[in-house]
Amino acid sequence: MKKIKILSQYLSKIELINDYNRNYYDLSLPLVSDEIYDKLKKEILDLEKKNPSLQNKQSPSKIVGFKPSKNFNKSPHRTPMLSLANAFSEEDLINFEKKIFNFLSIKKNFQISYSAEPKIDGISASLTYKGGKFIKGLSRGDGKEGEDITKNLATIKDIPKIILQKDFPDEIDIRGEVFIQNSDFENLKEKFANPRNAASGSLRQKNSEDTSKIPLKFIAYTFGFEKGLKIENQSTYLKKLSEWGFKTNPQNKLITGIKDLLKNYDKLEKKRQNLNFDIDGVVYKVNDFVLQKRLGNVANAPRWAIAHKFSSNKAISKILDVEIQIGRTGALTPVAKINPINIGGVVVSNATLHNEDEIIRKDIRIGDTVTVERAGDVIPHILSVDFSKRGKKSFKFCFPNKCPSCGSTTIKDYNRTTKKKDAVRRCSSEDYFCEKISIEKLKHFVSKEAFNIDGLGKKIIENFYKLNLIKFPQDIFILDFNQIEKLEGWGKLSVENLKYSIEKKKKISLERFIYALGIRHIGLENAKLISKYFRSFSRFKDLSINNDFNELLNIDGIGETQVNSIKIFFTNKKNIIVLNTLEKILDIKNTKVENKKGILKDQTFLVTGKLIGVSRAEIKSLIEENSGTTVSSVSKKLNYLIIGEKPTKRKIESAKELKIKILDQNQFLNMLNKTS
Ligand code: NAD
Repeated sequence: MKKIKILSQYLSKIELINDYNRNYYDLSLPLVSDEIYDKLKKEILDLEKKNPSLQNKQSPSKIVGFKPSKNFNKSPHRTPMLSLANAFSEEDLINFEKKIFNFLSIKKNFQISYSAEPKIDGISASLTYKGGKFIKGLSRGDGKEGEDITKNLATIKDIPKIILQKDFPDEIDIRGEVFIQNSDFENLKEKFANPRNAASGSLRQKNSEDTSKIPLKFIAYTFGFEKGLKIENQSTYLKKLSEWGFKTNPQNKLITGIKDLLKNYDKLEKKRQNLNFDIDGVVYKVNDFVLQKRLGNVANAPRWAIAHKFSSNKAISKILDVEIQIGRTGALTPVAKINPINIGGVVVSNATLHNEDEIIRKDIRIGDTVTVERAGDVIPHILSVDFSKRGKKSFKFCFPNKCPSCGSTTIKDYNRTTKKKDAVRRCSSEDYFCEKISIEKLKHFVSKEAFNIDGLGKKIIENFYKLNLIKFPQDIFILDFNQIEKLEGWGKLSVENLKYSIEKKKKISLERFIYALGIRHIGLENAKLISKYFRSFSRFKDLSINNDFNELLNIDGIGETQVNSIKIFFTNKKNIIVLNTLEKILDIKNTKVENKKGILKDQTFLVTGKLIGVSRAEIKSLIEENSGTTVSSVSKKLNYLIIGEKPTKRKIESAKELKIKILDQNQFLNMLNKTS
């Protein structure tokens, strides 16, 4: 690859990681999971290794955290507050020890003892004591300067304000972790992704009274600047800390040898789900302070310590229960309710079990200790069961043969292509008989790609269904707004807004309407094909009179499976009532014959970011109506990149590099107006 290209790639990665850092450290609202963050960090470090000329002040190999926020006075750390190097495997640990041996030039038979301390996933703080009095408290900030959060730290009960012991140094910066217990996080989980963000957000409030309302905890584990500390090693220091009145971690251990470090790591990884605070690994510190001093630091971390991280996409937990969820098409999906566990910054309490066959294949049971995986955008799932942990009284999970919602028999369809029964079991009831299916169908009806009704989210649909306000799709358009106004959480303005958004969506294209009906196997693409074929709602509805479903096979892309589904839909009388009623209420637009001479002919488009007032699906059909095409990535084939709010920076940069025209939403809409 050319040098210039590598440099531009490197710089755009640095810019991106800087953005992630700001959101994580400063705003306590991470943009991405730790897995994605760590991957990007590794890409940058790999680029630097392969191209030693690549240097940047903002590189993750050089920086710590993020600069102090302007909301606080900043103050310098008398001894820098560093980060920690990471280890993910036994090999990494062996290398860590090897480097220590080489650096100190000591004999191979020398045994190094390590203080192995659970790595609490909170935020670090430095507490300055003078004459035994707590006088100042700083956050880590960028390691050189921290935020002065003395008042906020003073609200934490675990932080001693006065220490009277004679052996307490005249002056010392006690350092440790501020965190929140998992049980207290329960009340904050709507606001923050995980306990770490909750602790960071709560500790760094502008007003210390707000901090005092959150039960933050503090565990001490190290020190910065000191005058008069007469201690020779970390394990003695930890003991002293508790004598002086600080909380220390009861799981701290003194260990010699990589093998025993690994044993301790495995034990803690299993114990993790039962602790009342999040840990994301184990920190190993050379115990001897003389050796620590000789080893010193690299740019942003000490040479004498390493964080042995738990996987950012896997964790061990326990299945507490199995819940059966029922989808829009009647599919019964078993979901494991697990002991909540933090996987790469996301607290996971549910894991899909996919279907009945998967449960049988893996012999998954309630009470099992399991490994849960959460990788990329994939829904968390059970990777394996630890059979050695299974109790004698455990019994096989019995999949229900009756729908848990409506009691109808559950069935497995025969799949003509595979000539086997489906793995998925379904509720056999007809449309709108089963309560759970009805609710899911209604949620689908108002969803983004369908009617896209603002203010009618999933929770509201569930609530309105329970209150008998909406049972069928047509009920959405004849809502009793007087009754809604009296409900808790509703007022005149919100009701007016809802009324307005529903009214606005009465005009709809035929393809979106067909998609909204939620017919099994008829997704957006198939709905589009069907709408192009029938062109008008009345011709589509005539299917219920003609009963000639085989004509649908003329549509390129529609096969027997889809035809069968449409047939089932039209044979249900309730669906015909839905169609007839909606026909009277809605203005369903005919599908235009493709205008190959449209203004956007031969032009390709890509949208990045959120557009105002229009969904992605709407923009896509607008482009296609005007003979344009949408593509999914930035390449030489792209003519226009349309940017909305919070666009993907990388897409913009690549577009600029390829000299692709960039438009905002208005510029794009103006482009269309010129033709009309
Ligand atoms: P780190 O969290 O990996 O390690 C350093 C920190 O460990 C210390 O500052 C201290 O707070 C903590 N710690 C806990 N117990 C300790 C003990 N006994 N002794 C010493 N330190 C202890 O380092 P970091 O640089 O703050 O953060 C990197 C981590 O944060 C990565 O895991 C990364 O995935 C995550 N991160 C995520 C995002 C995101 O957007 N998702 C952004 C930035 C960082």
